[in-house]
Amino acid sequence: MQAEILDGVQMSRDILAGLKEQVAALKARYGRAPGLATILVGEDPASVSYVTRKVRTALDLEFHEVQETRPAAITQEELLSLVERYNQDPQIDGILVQLPLPASICEQAVVRAIDPGKDVDGFHPVNLGQMMQGLRESCYVPCTPAGIQEMLVRSGTVTDGAEVVVVGRSAIVGRPVAVLLGQKGPGANSTVTLVHTATRDLADHCRRADILIVAAGVPGLVRPDWIKPGATVIDVGVNRVGTHERTGKALLSGDVAFDEARLRAGRITPVPGGVGPMTIAMLMKNTVQAAWRHLES
Ligand code: NAD
Repeated sequence: MQAEILDGVQMSRDILAGLKEQVAALKARYGRAPGLATILVGEDPASVSYVTRKVRTALDLEFHEVQETRPAAITQEELLSLVERYNQDPQIDGILVQLPLPASICEQAVVRAIDPGKDVDGFHPVNLGQMMQGLRESCYVPCTPAGIQEMLVRSGTVTDGAEVVVVGRSAIVGRPVAVLLGQKGPGANSTVTLVHTATRDLADHCRRADILIVAAGVPGLVRPDWIKPGATVIDVGVNRVGTHERTGKALLSGDVAFDEARLRAGRITPVPGGVGPMTIAMLMKNTVQAAWRHLES
């Protein structure tokens, strides 16, 4: 059996096509496009690549896109005042500060400085708190967890009553996706187990999973025999494992041994081309939603 490949590129194209129509509707009704400010600090190659893709997608959607790049030596105060500038800018609906930030800057201070109504990454405690309360309609859900849930829904994966195992407990992926899938509602209502570095018998937990979500950042961590036959496997990991000889581009690998896993799983996401594009699509969706909220209020 070969697993069905969950094509994040195609799914994200479909979502972006819908958003394009909403951008046109916004422009027709209010005379302006959604505004997104992206702030990149330093030159970390992965961050540069993520921001480049986000900006390109925003421009494709004809957003009002403002790109700010600052050296790694920027002070926290300077960064906070840049964030504040866009908090006050009525043309800007969403602010994205690409993480991680240099060690000299307190990430939490920067995340908390973003107006929660413009926090389209969904990392502000106000948004995370509302998500915990199940107030999805009034908050911004973090983009990667939202993208994972969207993939499950679009692929027809049954989540209701499913055993879900999430590997990794980061504040931006593992914990929020575990909360989302455990809540009542479509694309959720699952029985969720969150496993991490202190978990005993990691493999045994994984083997129980109808849906296995892996966000550990360890290439090839999940071996094929950890996968229940027919399970849906969502590989969030993006690991730079080398450089392409000819193009010089980074070679990426997920957290799951893909070639063997696809012989056992029922559905599986590739890396690249799985969760990554969905994360960007959800960022754009949050920004369009922010624009509607700002313009209608
Ligand atoms: P993180 O380092 O903050 O968290 C990793 C988590 O995995 C930790 O909770 C840790 O306890 C757990 N873990 C690590 N090694 C483990 C092991 N051997 N056994 C069990 N648990 C283990 O990372 P993160 O920000 O959540 O990102 C995880 C991965 O997902 C990274 O590869 C990252 O690049 C990728 N990522 C991808 C996207 C995307 O859009 N595709 C978005 C965010 C993160």
